Amino acid sequence: MTLTLTDVRLTYPDGDRRLVALDAVDLRVAPGEFVAVTGPSGSGKSSLLAVAGALTTPEHGTVVLESTDVTALDQQGRDRLRRERIGFVFQQANLLASLTAVDQLLLVAHVAGTSRRTAETRARELLDRVGLGSKAGKRPQQLSGGERQRVGVARALMGDPALLLVDEPTSALDHDRGEAVVRLLRDITHEQQVATVMVTHDLQHLHLVDRTVTMDDGRLTAPVPA
Ligand code: ADP
Ligand code: MG
Repeated sequence: MTLTLTDVRLTYPDGDRRLVALDAVDLRVAPGEFVAVTGPSGSGKSSLLAVAGALTTPEHGTVVLESTDVTALDQQGRDRLRRERIGFVFQQANLLASLTAVDQLLLVAHVAGTSRRTAETRARELLDRVGLGSKAGKRPQQLSGGERQRVGVARALMGDPALLLVDEPTSALDHDRGEAVVRLLRDITHEQQVATVMVTHDLQHLHLVDRTVTMDDGRLTAPVPA
């Protein structure tokens, strides 16, 4: 599914003024493309993901997923689109302490109304895919940071998303574990033809992405060609 942002503007209330978080942002991500977004803290990277993932509606511009204009959907339509087509991976895996790895994935399927048996097969396949097949029964405190983050990736894939939005997935990980997570995201993006946008300030992993764009004070710039 192609993601296309055109002339997107997002502001937040800031006292009696507005803070411009995204300004005239254009971005197109094709299926199977792994795009990194870098830029300083506060430059608008997470806001970009929130708009791309239909969590926030911009005040100007359009966000199109394949042929659906997300900005024209009502709340229910956006919720449904998120549930059915979009996967999110956050900085911290945000796992529930009491649930095993496989149950973290089944919880999402339960919310989506998938049958238990179908969901369990899928959850175990995905845990295998992220290299955690043997840890399906472990709770978060029995897993390393990198393993938790991989559970988070598997959970985001439960709905078979066409768009994957990832916010600083390596910030809590050391270099090698971070690299393994980014490599996994790259492989999944290419294998499953997902359009993936990954926010990162970890420049060391950029050799794994197809393209890098930079956010600066709400504006998106592609690197100047050499
Ligand atoms: P980044 O992810 O690059 O650090 P953000 O998108 O989180 O940047 O934030 C961009 C700007 O918008 C920052 O100045 C931030 O303080 C502000 N901001 C983010 N979210 C909100 C919000 N919900 N309300 C008000 N201001 C916000
Ligand atoms: Mg952020």
